[in-house]
Amino acid sequence: MELFISTRGDASGVTAPEAVLRGIAPDGGLYIRKDMPSIPVEELAGADFRALAERILGEYLTGYDREEIRGCVERAYDGKFDVPEIAPVRAVGDIHVLELFHGPTAAFKDVALSALPQLMSCALQKTGARDEILILTATSGDTGSAALTGFRDVPGIRIIVFYPDRGISPIQRAQMTTMAGDNLGVCAISGNFDDAQTGVKRIFAELPEDFRARCHVALSSANSINIGRLAPQIVYYYSAYLDLVQRGALRMGEKLNFCVPTGNFGDILAGYFAKRMGLPVGKLICASNANNVLTDFLNTGVYDKKRKFLTTISPSMDILVSSNLERLLYLALDCDARAVRERMAALNERGEYSMPEAAMAKIRESFAAACATDEQALDAIRRVFREHRYLMDPHTAVAWKAAEDYRAATGDRAPCVVLSTASPYKFPASVLTALGEEIPADAAAQLKRMEELSGTKAPAPLAHVLDRAPRFRDVIAPGEMMNYVMERMTRR
Ligand SMILES: *Cc1c(COP(=O)(O)O)cnc(C)c1O
Repeated sequence: MELFISTRGDASGVTAPEAVLRGIAPDGGLYIRKDMPSIPVEELAGADFRALAERILGEYLTGYDREEIRGCVERAYDGKFDVPEIAPVRAVGDIHVLELFHGPTAAFKDVALSALPQLMSCALQKTGARDEILILTATSGDTGSAALTGFRDVPGIRIIVFYPDRGISPIQRAQMTTMAGDNLGVCAISGNFDDAQTGVKRIFAELPEDFRARCHVALSSANSINIGRLAPQIVYYYSAYLDLVQRGALRMGEKLNFCVPTGNFGDILAGYFAKRMGLPVGKLICASNANNVLTDFLNTGVYDKKRKFLTTISPSMDILVSSNLERLLYLALDCDARAVRERMAALNERGEYSMPEAAMAKIRESFAAACATDEQALDAIRRVFREHRYLMDPHTAVAWKAAEDYRAATGDRAPCVVLSTASPYKFPASVLTALGEEIPADAAAQLKRMEELSGTKAPAPLAHVLDRAPRFRDVIAPGEMMNYVMERMTRR
């Protein structure tokens, strides 16, 4: 059986259920399979989202049997999305927009975070693990509410979410702090997303073994470093491709480009996995906001995080250290774990690393990069609404602009899908600003104004969350995260 191994070289492989339970490898690396299963898209014509998910997860996540995967997929997508297609594609001018925001929290992370808890719960039963699982998650806004929703009241699992106190939208905050459920905690960090993510990684590395044993708790992660979170994202690259073929916008076998609003590099990496499984993907265009570390990296081969962290109107992309890039490095460096380890150490110690030219050439066969400022994203929202009556959120708008710039710069006319990662209703103040509207002070009034302008409806869960009082009010310094977790683990 094909096993999952660490990008940093811990040689012993584990099955997918074990990798899903652990989240991160013991040596701090990320789990990955060296070889991809081959899944020809021609065989899948006519399959709906769930059938695709069963096939792809079943082949990729070795160690689960087909019945288990079928059960996980069924429970993950049963009635949780507000459209039957789960991930519909809309034609907007000559670009195709893949709408990934029809789940319970109106962001694309719902697609994967509906499946991950099921995969984890199934893994717990399979392995006969006696410990409780504690999920620790750092969020730049959207992971938190999607993870809380997915894990809420799942037996044997608890979850604590850390989010940056500034830089997320009032709706995002309300979604988390009002969440019901007995097995969850939510805490703000007086810092940015990278501080929260670094804090979580530190807890994984440094929480004493004997303390874990005493509390009968094993730590795991719901961030896209977890392979069980990444794998479900492969599915919509296939579903979008098949959709376009079915409506005659694409010939079977023709190359399709995808432009992905990128933060932690999980979403776009899933597209690369789809390509390696055999989906005819042309270029994966990595779209960044003003925190354009990845644009520079793809252009120069130097990853340099030593720069100012900027707070933008696309907060889920405000990231300077994109964790999942490590998996791409591993593949591009021909699975040389030592070479990956050296670079991750350099990033930690010197704030930068560089890649050999041969590896960059390999990466550039599949990836291109472009970035957009807040002004450019606002301008894209305005133009697309004027020309096509289609409303985009700021993250999607960054990708739209990147797709335009990529086409203009390269002349590449291959059909292009822009991944839409959030409902515009999640960021009403930015969207109304883009449209030149006055911004009502109250978020509910903002949603109403957007409904009037666009003739669409706000997703029901977003409208409701604003009426509820927050349950969670803690704000702590990044340095206090370890104590916070230890205290909550003992206090039950
Ligand atoms: C998380 C998120 C992204 C970035 O996705 P990554 O997998 O972290 O690259 C983009 N847009 C939105 C709305 C998100 O929530």
